[in-house]
Amino acid sequence: MSLPPPLVLTVAGSDSGGGAGIQADLKTLLALGTHGMSVVTAVTAQNSRGVHGVWELPEEAIRAQYRAVVDDIGVQAVKTGMLSSAALVETVAELLAGTDAPVVVDPVGVSKHGDPLLAASALDSVRTKLLPAATVATPNLDEVAQLTGVHVVHESDMRVAAEAILSYGPRWALIKGGHLPTGDGAVDLLTDGAEEHWLRAPRHDNRHTHGTGCTLASAVAAGLAKGLPVERAVREAKEYVTGAIAAGFALGAGIGPVDHGW
Ligand code: PLP
Repeated sequence: MSLPPPLVLTVAGSDSGGGAGIQADLKTLLALGTHGMSVVTAVTAQNSRGVHGVWELPEEAIRAQYRAVVDDIGVQAVKTGMLSSAALVETVAELLAGTDAPVVVDPVGVSKHGDPLLAASALDSVRTKLLPAATVATPNLDEVAQLTGVHVVHESDMRVAAEAILSYGPRWALIKGGHLPTGDGAVDLLTDGAEEHWLRAPRHDNRHTHGTGCTLASAVAAGLAKGLPVERAVREAKEYVTGAIAAGFALGAGIGPVDHGW
């Protein structure tokens, strides 16, 4: 018998194609030496070409999955992803209010194919209920625009974006600038309003990046579950996702997933 690995819970949607959502989270958590557990919030019928259907689970199923894990096994970090509706965002926020574990909130809005993964009517609940529960919030630039109205077009706008996200109450904001046409690489800003860390990574010319955001947020949660400080957890997570993007592979007729076996 050996000691259990660090325990991480992902609260997210299922991607039948195995590239993003719960499936990406659990692969990341395994690759990083943690025990992944899941609260499935919604089931998507999805493949490399997009999301073809979404079925939310009832609030009761969210609560029951969460309680089953937390009351018996315990968690050392939680990650949230696709929450789909205002009711589910509020249910999850209420559950998280009772945990001492660090929480990584990936405020998933729209998929790479432009399919909505969060109702517009849920944005306010994300701002006022979910973001305050976050140790680290990891919005991309589209999610920043949706949540704060700040449109980042230059690297220098990322500071304004971070301040706007921090105003909702997460301890740290990780603004993912991967969609910026900076040319020389992908830049992210991690800040708690006092410290500021600019994280740079080479940009890989690979369009098979499905699951990037889920993978990054899960990797941060894995680091936090291991007891790493936020900055180190984020740096190591960025390194992991950069490798996973470089190794992303073609699948189906559309956008393939990042790879966790690199
Ligand atoms: N499907 C689910 C269930 C997700 O949680 C996400 C992202 O968080 C996506 C799809 C979209 O992934 P991507 O934008 O990387 O294609």
